[in-house]
Amino acid sequence: MTRVRLEGVSKYYGAVVAAEDVNIEIQSGEFFTLLGPSGCGKTTTLRIIAGFETPDKGRVYFDDEDVTFVKPYKRNTSMVFQNYALWPHMTVYENVAYGLKLRKKELGLTDEDIRKMVKEALELVKLSGMENRYPLQLSGGQQQRVALARALVVKPRVLLLDEPLSNLDAKLRIEMREELRKLQRSLNLTTIYVIHDQVEAMSLSDRIAVMNKGRVVQVGSPKELYFKPRSLFVADFLGRSSIYPGELVSQSGEYAEARLADADIIVRGVTPVEKLPRKVSVVIRPEIIRLGGGRAEEGDTVVKGVVDFAMFLGEKVEARVKIGNLPLLVYLPNTVDVSTGNEVELTLPWRNIIILPSD
Ligand code: ATP
Repeated sequence: MTRVRLEGVSKYYGAVVAAEDVNIEIQSGEFFTLLGPSGCGKTTTLRIIAGFETPDKGRVYFDDEDVTFVKPYKRNTSMVFQNYALWPHMTVYENVAYGLKLRKKELGLTDEDIRKMVKEALELVKLSGMENRYPLQLSGGQQQRVALARALVVKPRVLLLDEPLSNLDAKLRIEMREELRKLQRSLNLTTIYVIHDQVEAMSLSDRIAVMNKGRVVQVGSPKELYFKPRSLFVADFLGRSSIYPGELVSQSGEYAEARLADADIIVRGVTPVEKLPRKVSVVIRPEIIRLGGGRAEEGDTVVKGVVDFAMFLGEKVEARVKIGNLPLLVYLPNTVDVSTGNEVELTLPWRNIIILPSD
C-alpha cells in the first residue's frame, strides 16, 4: 500500500519540455492513469516515478519518503511495457523467476520460496501449466500475462504500466482490461497506467490525469472528466462531440447562453467557468441529442436540420445532421429509420451542453 506524490516535477530534454510542473497525488490502491496525445509527457512522467529518469525540478514521494534520487531497483516498483520485453531464450518459469533470483540473497529467499512465488504469480494471471513454454510458443495475450506475472512476483509497492495492451487485438484487449482491473482490485495495488486511448483510460481508471504539452490539464474520475471538462482540450480528447465556436450572450448562475457563429441559433448550456470570456465554444455530445421536439423543457434548444448521412452501427445509428451550415454528430436509437435528405427536428437538452472558453 503506497501513496505516490509528484510535487512540481519538470523534465527538459534540451529545448523540449517533456514535463512541466506536474503535481499529482495518487492514493494507495488507486488505479491512476496518465492520458494524453503522443508526446504529451506521459512516459516521461512514468519513468520519473520508476526512477529511470530524474526530474530537473520537483520531488517524488512514496508515502512520506522522498525517492527523487533513489535508484530504480531500490524503489520496488515494477514496470510492464507495450512490447512485453520477455527473454525469448527463457521459459515462462525462468522469465518470471528472473527478478527473484537476482535478488535472492538480498531478500533472503530459498529456491523453494522462489518456486512457490512463481507458482502463485502464474496462478494470478491464469497461466498455471505453461511454466515450460517459451514466449514464442504463447499467444500475444499469454505473453502479456507472463510480463504481468513477472511484474507482480516481486510484490511491488507500485505497479507501472506503459500501454501494456496496445499490441493485442481489439477483442482480447477488452478481455485483458477486465482481468487487469479485477486483479488490481483484488491485490489493492497502487497502479499507474500510461495510455493515449481515452476509452481504455475511462474503462480502467479510478482517476485520470489528462496531459497536454507536458502539463497536467485536469485530474478527475472518468465521469468528472467526461461530463465536466474544464477546457476544450479535455472535452475534445475524451469522447466524441460537436464543438462550435460562439459568442457569449449571457451568463447567470448555473447556465450560460451563446450565439453560434455562422448560424442564428442561441444555445443554453452549463459551464464550469465562473466568468466566461466573449469567445466561447459550445460542446455537444452526440448521445445527448433527442429526436423530436416534443419533450423539450424550458431552456433546451430545438433545431431543425437535414440528415447529411446516417450509418446503422448495430447498437445505434450514427448520423450527421446539417443545421443550416453546421454539421452536428448525433447518436440515435437503433430502431430509428433515417436516411440522407430526411428533415428532422432535434432537441439539445441544455443541462448536457457544455460551454467553455475557446482555447
Ligand atoms: P507517446 O505516447 O508517443 O509515448 P508520451 O506522452 O509518452 O508520448 P514522452 O515520451 O514522455 O511522451 O515525451 C515527451 C516529450 O519529450 C516528447 O516531445 C519527446 O520527443 C521528448 N523526449 C522524451 N524522451 C526524450 C529523450 N530521451 N531525449 C529527447 N527528447 C525526449
